Amino acid sequence: MSIDRVGIGTDLHRLAAGRRLVLGHVPIEYDKGPVGHSDGDVVLHAIIDALAGAAGLPDIGEMFPDTDPAYKDADSGRLLTAALERLAQAGYAVVNVDVTIHAERPKLSPHKAAIRAEVARLLGVDVQAVSIKAKTNEGMDAVGRGEAIACTVVAGIKRTR
Ligand SMILES: [Zn+2]
Repeated sequence: MSIDRVGIGTDLHRLAAGRRLVLGHVPIEYDKGPVGHSDGDVVLHAIIDALAGAAGLPDIGEMFPDTDPAYKDADSGRLLTAALERLAQAGYAVVNVDVTIHAERPKLSPHKAAIRAEVARLLGVDVQAVSIKAKTNEGMDAVGRGEAIACTVVAGIKRTR
């Protein structure tokens, strides 16, 4: 399957006690979670921006303004679904996404398969088209001190018409 365009997306959220950690729409047991207007799912936010970038669409902040009460604590799965509709309207479909999560803690290896399956389900693609990688930051900077969690995504898309 050929790729017509590629895009990159990044996201970062501060972590705070008493917030729920959700990565790629999968709830993860941890004592901290992202601070954000929506649920702060860095994986889905970076995927949305990668797809928007590939298709030349407005970025996530323009599509879903954080001043809009409709997106307060929003399930980012809803945001991704809306972004996929925009992508389809623009005449594109997802080919693959390559996801790297940057987190010192918690350990993500036990969760990668579940995140991969859920991201594939949300995108409507085969699991083979989704890669989930996790890296620590070797103790360096805010991510390394466990104060933040971040994600980098590259997405490939193809023209549908
Ligand atoms: Zn975000």
